[in-house]
Amino acid sequence: MPAKVDKDNCAGCGSCVSACPVEAIKMEDDGKAKVDADTCIDCGSCVSTCPAGAISQE
Ligand code: SF4
Ligand code: SF4
Repeated sequence: MPAKVDKDNCAGCGSCVSACPVEAIKMEDDGKAKVDADTCIDCGSCVSTCPAGAISQE
């Protein structure tokens, strides 16, 4: 499954953006991360990188 950010838990640190090998994650105007599901290759890197546990692949 593509990664999904729970915006309520995202701290806006940006770590997931640099952790993604295919640049599928961007920071939005609200300061929260968002995954482009069409670009995501389901690698799981961002899930383990997020210090807030805000990203899941369910
Ligand atoms: S790593 Fe987690 S807390 Fe940081 S921007 Fe990404 S989703 Fe938000
Ligand atoms: S699961 Fe991998 S490819 Fe998908 S958004 Fe996270 S780091 Fe990028």
